[in-house]
Amino acid sequence: MSYKKTLFNPKNEKARKVMKIVGPICMVIGFGLIIFSFMTFFNNPQGIIIPFILGGVSLMIGTYCINLGFRKNIRSYTASQDAPIIKDTVDYIANESALSNLVGSSNICPKCGEHNEEDAKFCDKCGTKLVNVCPNCGTENKADAKFCSNCGKEL
Ligand SMILES: [Zn+2]
Ligand SMILES: [Zn+2]
Repeated sequence: MSYKKTLFNPKNEKARKVMKIVGPICMVIGFGLIIFSFMTFFNNPQGIIIPFILGGVSLMIGTYCINLGFRKNIRSYTASQDAPIIKDTVDYIANESALSNLVGSSNICPKCGEHNEEDAKFCDKCGTKLVNVCPNCGTENKADAKFCSNCGKEL
């Protein structure tokens, strides 16, 4: 019992090393037995049951050993894989909301707060000029722009 406990303790380095070897061997034996049982199916349909069951059990043991033996590796692998994806997603959401904030507030009338069409030049409600024409190059900038989008001159 104590031997079993040691062997199947996933925190035990030695046990994991054993499982890393035993696991794949069991998988190979299991696959082999199942393939063998299918190959002999036409000659001896009754004869496939025992190798098939043995193969299935072997595969399960192999999967279990690989799972325990490689758990630490799998976990660190998935962690390193997950982190950039989560970061990308967070960045994407942050960018999206920043973008929608920008779009949403881009044509709010500075005088009355009315939401106007994105390309509107004057407020629908009070007629306030919504574009900031650059004195240097004549480019129409957003009303709240501080610098010209074309030449960079302070507005
Ligand atoms: Zn207005
Ligand atoms: Zn300009």
